[in-house]
Amino acid sequence: MRILVQKFGGTSVANLECMLKVREKVSAALDKGYKLVVVLSAMSGETNRLIDMAQKWSPRPDPAEMDVLLATGEQTSVALFSMLLKDKGIKARSLLGYQIPIQTDKSFGKARILDIDTDRLEQMLSRFDVLVAAGFQGCDCEQRITTLGRGGSDTSAVALAAALKAEMCEIYTDVDGVYTTDPNICSRARKIPKIAYDEMLEMASMGAKVLQIRSVEFAKKYNVPIHVRSTFSDEPGTLVIQEDETMESAMVSGIAYDKDQARITLVDVYDEPGIAARVFEPIAAANIVVDMIVQNPSREGRTDMTFTVPKSSLEDTLAIIEKIKTDIGARDILADPNVAKVSVIGVGMRNHSGVAAIAFSALKNENINIMIISTSEIKISCLIEEKYTELAVRTLHEAFGLDK
Ligand code: ASP
Ligand code: MG
Repeated sequence: MRILVQKFGGTSVANLECMLKVREKVSAALDKGYKLVVVLSAMSGETNRLIDMAQKWSPRPDPAEMDVLLATGEQTSVALFSMLLKDKGIKARSLLGYQIPIQTDKSFGKARILDIDTDRLEQMLSRFDVLVAAGFQGCDCEQRITTLGRGGSDTSAVALAAALKAEMCEIYTDVDGVYTTDPNICSRARKIPKIAYDEMLEMASMGAKVLQIRSVEFAKKYNVPIHVRSTFSDEPGTLVIQEDETMESAMVSGIAYDKDQARITLVDVYDEPGIAARVFEPIAAANIVVDMIVQNPSREGRTDMTFTVPKSSLEDTLAIIEKIKTDIGARDILADPNVAKVSVIGVGMRNHSGVAAIAFSALKNENINIMIISTSEIKISCLIEEKYTELAVRTLHEAFGLDK
C-alpha cells in the first residue's frame, strides 16, 4: 500500500472554491495509486475568531474547554471536505483527533503527541481511499480534547506520516516553498529546491511562517520527508529532508534574521566560578529564553557578560539582574532593545573554510558594526543594530551568491 499524507493549511481550505482545488490535488494523488491521509487546518481566520470569542466570554478561559472550542475549527473543515470527496464518489471519511486516536499529554493548548494507533489507521485505510483527518488536535489519556499549539496541523501531518511510514508528507500552503531569505525584504530571494532538517530548524525566523518548528523536529526524528508546496500551482516546492552530499557542495543555503532581540551587558562582574549560574538560573526560572551569550575578561579578576533575550522579556530580565547586581559585582548594566540577529546558514559550512570571513567583510563593506558573533557547526550569527537588518540580509544574500 503506497501511502501519502497531504496537509492543507487554512488559506487552502478557506472556502468552497479553495476546497475544490484541494479536491483536485487529492484526486491526482489517487490516480497515481496512493491511499491518502488528508490533514486539514481550520478555515483561515477561524482559529483567531474562536480565540477572540472565548476571550470575550471569559476573563481567563479554561484551557481544557478552550481546546474543545478550538478543535471545532478543524472539525468543520474535515466534515465539509469529506462531503466534497463523497460527492465525487471517492471512498472517504472524516476523522477527529480522538477517533484516530492521536494520544497526547495533558498540556492543553500546547500538547505533545505521545502515540498514534497505527493498526487502526491501516485498517481504516484498507476500507477507505482517503481519510480526512482533523489537524491540530488529539486527546489525552482521559479522552479530553487537546490541541498542539498554533500551526499544529503541520505536526499532526508529520506525525501521521511517521506512524504510517508514508512515502512523503506534502504540506500544501499559500507560498510555493522555502526561500533563501525573506522575499519581502530581498526581492532576489530564490526558492530552495531541498533543504536539510537542521537548516530548516535554523531558518526558524522565516521558516516558522511556513512550517511549525515542532513538525520539523518530529520529521527529523522519524526521518519523514516533507514537501512544502503551493495548493495553487503544480510547481514542485521545497523538500525538507535528511542532509545529503549535494547540499554540502553549496557553501550557504540561506540568510535568516530575527528582530526580536534585546541585548544586555553586565559590566565588570567577578571572574570566578558560579557567576554565570547566578545570572542565568533566575532568568531560566522566570521562563525567559536566552539566545546569544558571550563573556570575555575585561580586567584582572573581572569579566563582561553580554547576552540577548526577546524584546518583550527585556524589562523582566533587567528586574532580575537588578536584584543580583551587587552579588555578582556588576559595575554597570547596559541594555539595548534596538538590536537584531542576522544568520548565515548552511550544512556546507562544515566543509568550506572562510565562510565567516566572507560574511564579516560583506558587513564591513556596508559599514555595519557587529556587536556579538556566535557560531554553530552550520550557522554564523551576528548581532547588529536593528535599523541595518534589511541591508545586512541583502548584502549577505548577495555575498554568498544566493541570488544566482
Ligand atoms: N488552526 C490552527 C491554527 O490556526 C492550527 C493550524 O492551522 O495548523 O493555529
Ligand atoms: Mg501553518
